[in-house]
Amino acid sequence: MRLTLPFLCLALLLISKPVYSQHTNPDGCGTDGITPWFKWYVQHRDALLAERGGGDTTWLYVPTTVQITGTDQGKEYFNTELAINAMDNMNRQFRDARIRFYLQPGDPFRYLNNTYWHDHNWGGGADLIETNRLPDRLNAFVVKDPAGNCGYSWMDAIVLSKSCSGAYNSTWAHEAGHHLSLPHPFYGWEGESWNFSEPAPNFVGGNQVEKMDGSNCYNSGDFFCDTRPDYLSDRWNCNQNGESIVLQHDPNNVPFRSDATLLMGYSLDACASRFTPEQIQAMRLNLQTQHAEYLQLSDPLQEIAEDEPVELVSPIDTQFVQFDNATFTWNPVPNASLYTVEVGLFESILPKFVWQTVYNTTTLTVTNGLPNNKLLYWRVRPYSEWDLSKQLAPQQVGVFKTYNFAATNDLEKVVLASISPNPVSIGAPAMLQVTADDNMDAVVSVTDASGRRCYFENHLLHVGENLLEIPTLNLNAGIYFVTLQNELGTIIKRLAVTQ
Ligand SMILES: [Zn+2]
Repeated sequence: MRLTLPFLCLALLLISKPVYSQHTNPDGCGTDGITPWFKWYVQHRDALLAERGGGDTTWLYVPTTVQITGTDQGKEYFNTELAINAMDNMNRQFRDARIRFYLQPGDPFRYLNNTYWHDHNWGGGADLIETNRLPDRLNAFVVKDPAGNCGYSWMDAIVLSKSCSGAYNSTWAHEAGHHLSLPHPFYGWEGESWNFSEPAPNFVGGNQVEKMDGSNCYNSGDFFCDTRPDYLSDRWNCNQNGESIVLQHDPNNVPFRSDATLLMGYSLDACASRFTPEQIQAMRLNLQTQHAEYLQLSDPLQEIAEDEPVELVSPIDTQFVQFDNATFTWNPVPNASLYTVEVGLFESILPKFVWQTVYNTTTLTVTNGLPNNKLLYWRVRPYSEWDLSKQLAPQQVGVFKTYNFAATNDLEKVVLASISPNPVSIGAPAMLQVTADDNMDAVVSVTDASGRRCYFENHLLHVGENLLEIPTLNLNAGIYFVTLQNELGTIIKRLAVTQ
């Protein structure tokens, strides 16, 4: 049997009727319904499987570009290494399906500064996808709030929330399952409520209700027979047998508990771990038909050698670096293209001042976030578009000291000072922020442009951050000089006072 004609019809259907729903489930998935492709699959399943013979054990490789949104100001991005870890986690959950996701070579990550996309309703989500969706690959968007959900699959893209993309989440695998056509096992029950101590009705929302005896399993629920009935459309916890705590009753009054191990259900993430063989068949066929343009690789690419630590070049051996202009350099690792750089206060790299992933480079320059006059530690982890798994071998740790080479006196070597807001309105306090490496006394004074002293105060500075208030109530509009002074030296800052 040839399959060309149905695919044409399917292409038209996909353009005219996106699967879309206003149904929102906090901490859940915003996808419901079934896709036109899946309807076609259910109708032709027997013929399709007969043609394929079921002996297909090849690996299918799915290129992916991860697009991470931030605010208009470029803040609140999901950390790039966490996105790599989330994809690696998804690959473990897809291993039995022999489907592996990898980052699109040359275009692994994009970053979008747009608050409307970052924290969106359904309209903002549609705009995000339509504006940024890239051809011939899985599009994964990571945002702060995907319309009140943990994630959703819609308009041929998946959208994930930052907070549901951690190492122990199954959101990515769940939404990728939807993307490859799978419905929820509780299909038909989305948004329904029912007293589960009663037998379920024969139909819910116009859909047949799946029975425990399997008599209607290909026509009801998720249309698979190796996923048993499940009517639970809110998030639920599992018992130690990997089943729902809630006991339900099918239309024949047969009691059952839902299977918590299914990634496509709504059990809590820690309960879920697998796709069933029939779900896997559908996803693989979806990849080979609706998403055939994804299948560009027939062979795997090169992995990074497992015991290949990153060799640090500079700074090492307690070398001094300028605290607000530090450049880190390391030697390239064969087959690696992404490197995650971490800088921290202790050898454990905690607390962490820098956690940044760079692409196609072996240097990183850091201009803010490093404390001055500190002994700090750093390390680098290698990844590639293909190899997303963390190296288990320990990485080399570099040690360096931060210093202010720009200091013109001993006070500037141990104290950093800045004023905000600047300019300041008359009457609003200006704050002098002083970061000190030692406890010390210092005098703060304010003089006007003609050298007249307008304010004077003694302060005891403590190690760390000190906030010193400078009153402006008695000042006129104009330019002033704020001076911090003691026996080590003098730091002068300009302050503009406005009406
Ligand atoms: Zn879902």
